[in-house]
Amino acid sequence: MTTDKTDLKNFSQDQLIEFVESLGQSSFRGRQIMGWLYRSGITEFSQMTDLAKVFRKSLEEKCFISQFTDPITECADDGCVKFGFRLHDNNIVESVLIPEPKRNTLCISSQVGCAMNCSFCLTGTMGFIRNLSPSEIVNQICGVRDYLLAQTGGEQAGPGRVTNVVFMGMGEPLNNLENVLTSLSIMTDPRGLNLAERRITVSTCGIVSKLRVLGERSSVNLAISLHAVDDDSRSELMPVNVRFPIDDLLEACRNFPMPKRKRIMFEYILLKDINDSDNQARTLARKLRGIPCKINLIPYNDSPELGYKGSGRNRILAFQEILRKAHYSVFIRNSRGSDISAACGQLAGKNGNQAVLKKTSS
Ligand code: SAH
Repeated sequence: MTTDKTDLKNFSQDQLIEFVESLGQSSFRGRQIMGWLYRSGITEFSQMTDLAKVFRKSLEEKCFISQFTDPITECADDGCVKFGFRLHDNNIVESVLIPEPKRNTLCISSQVGCAMNCSFCLTGTMGFIRNLSPSEIVNQICGVRDYLLAQTGGEQAGPGRVTNVVFMGMGEPLNNLENVLTSLSIMTDPRGLNLAERRITVSTCGIVSKLRVLGERSSVNLAISLHAVDDDSRSELMPVNVRFPIDDLLEACRNFPMPKRKRIMFEYILLKDINDSDNQARTLARKLRGIPCKINLIPYNDSPELGYKGSGRNRILAFQEILRKAHYSVFIRNSRGSDISAACGQLAGKNGNQAVLKKTSS
């Protein structure tokens, strides 16, 4: 939609209150509107029945309620669903729903494309297109909520609504920090999407200069894409390491403002003969000493065009064992959705090409 009207879903509750106050209304009206905006099926101001008619009319003239409808969806054999939402400028933003017996995790994007150019990640090959606005971030969750609500019957696994959110889709969230922070405020607001902070994870490649701000202004979980234990190999895999070397990153993690008992999640993709030796596991154990953390080992999702190979199962288990013996909690991530290119690092806007997709919802 090209419009000069204000998209009310770009506002946190505080910003919304400020906005309605600028229209001469009380803060209470802002709270009422916040409650309406995040209910499924509310698309027009006329539905906000506890607001005066004249006020609704004036909102109608100045504002609109954005929403994502009619997603392109693709279902994996393991139950994962990849969503492509078309944006007003025709870009596509991707999100992936990962159903589990007791939760539904939604992996969302913070940007269209990504500027970080990690050599193993397919999204990097798209380059950076643009930041998503706060409404484009939260509307991924609203769009999937509406999709789940519209589904009928037994096919759907999990609890039927989005219970967890991870910023592990396209983009680097700390490069779009203000919009991400606004979206977090909407997600955690009881009148917004009402998700607990402990159910939300922001994953970053390590933009050291922004980490503290994230920790000071939110208490969501932090995940760090580490993937290597020394500067030479990390810089090769992740150009961001040239600007923010590994020891600076780990120092920022040590100082990250975190509530007691919270732990940082380190993500480590295991790439055959690159970062998966016993020695590298021991170095990793040494480097993470003193940081409250857990480690997630990620079997590499092949993207043949990038030329990397994932480590074999036995190597992954041996790597895990060394870290376990050093008293870390180490998990091996279950790769999901890879048959539809919905797994980590496989989002690359390919479903812009609708011809290759079966459209499963309307
Ligand atoms: N920019 C953020 C979030 C997006 S990437 C970040 O770097 O954390 C989400 C996770 O998927 C990161 O840990 C990323 O390194 C990982 N990833 C990228 N490509 C992958 C691939 N081909 N296989 C497995 N994980 C991959």
